[in-house]
Amino acid sequence: MGRKNTSQISIGQYNITRVEEILPLIPLEILLPRLDLEIAKKQFSWMVPNYFDPNTGLSPLSIHSWLLKTPHHNILIDACAGNHKTRTREEQADFANLETNYLENLGSAGITPSEIDFVLCTHLHVDHVGWNTKLENGKWVPTFPNAKYLFSEIDYNYWNTANRAGADPHPNDGPFDDSVLPIIEAGQGLLVKDIHEIEENIIVKPNPGHSPGHVTLHIGDGDNQGVFSGDIMHHPLQVYQPDWSSCFCELPEMARQTRIKLLEQCADEPIIVMPAHFASPHGGRILNTSDGFALEWVEN
Ligand SMILES: [Zn+2]
Repeated sequence: MGRKNTSQISIGQYNITRVEEILPLIPLEILLPRLDLEIAKKQFSWMVPNYFDPNTGLSPLSIHSWLLKTPHHNILIDACAGNHKTRTREEQADFANLETNYLENLGSAGITPSEIDFVLCTHLHVDHVGWNTKLENGKWVPTFPNAKYLFSEIDYNYWNTANRAGADPHPNDGPFDDSVLPIIEAGQGLLVKDIHEIEENIIVKPNPGHSPGHVTLHIGDGDNQGVFSGDIMHHPLQVYQPDWSSCFCELPEMARQTRIKLLEQCADEPIIVMPAHFASPHGGRILNTSDGFALEWVEN
């Protein structure tokens, strides 16, 4: 109780609401396999307590969507883990058989599911596709009946179970089958490759590494810009230590290069970075300092 399930950011003409689903805890040394606690300690002044508990070694990872309202469209960025999904693997225990108030939280942002025009999944991992579908009469059907769902074609082909016949099961096979495939079968999927413009100044760009087809969404122009950066960073410590890829990165070295490239593009620019999993504060601007990159928080 007392924790905010939604929060707001304004960027020029765009209104952005963060819609939280759950806030699981993960050992930081598992999340960041290259973690060096002596180096991390230099950041404890801002890491503790919001992003790290030194007594337990645990970090909260917010699972949230970003709802972007433009003058023309309602766009949902990432779809969390979803309700009622069967997740039998231990590493997906946080996402099994959830019954959260996610849709009510979305409703408190003044939006009903039928008003969503686009759903963009930055990639197709379990915690980014769940609310694509809901269970209705024993079948997975699109949660957002009027939306076009944008998926990276590269990620789609990478996890398409049809391409994986006979291969070892991948942890992502379940989410693909219950949260991605039904969207394609309903005719609501749009596979995107390269750069894709949803509307003027609302642009999907490839930024691979966390997954082979990971994308980011770039909005605005001039002094009012933002980027929904998905899982290029899981934890704000990665701004300060961009070489440290997460344990969830499919291609850690490519993820490292992409992270550094994005941080360089945003540094000292009027761009608010809104990652998929930062606990509170949930986003900020990137600064160039003599010690490397740093964060300037945007309160929300
Ligand atoms: Zn994620």
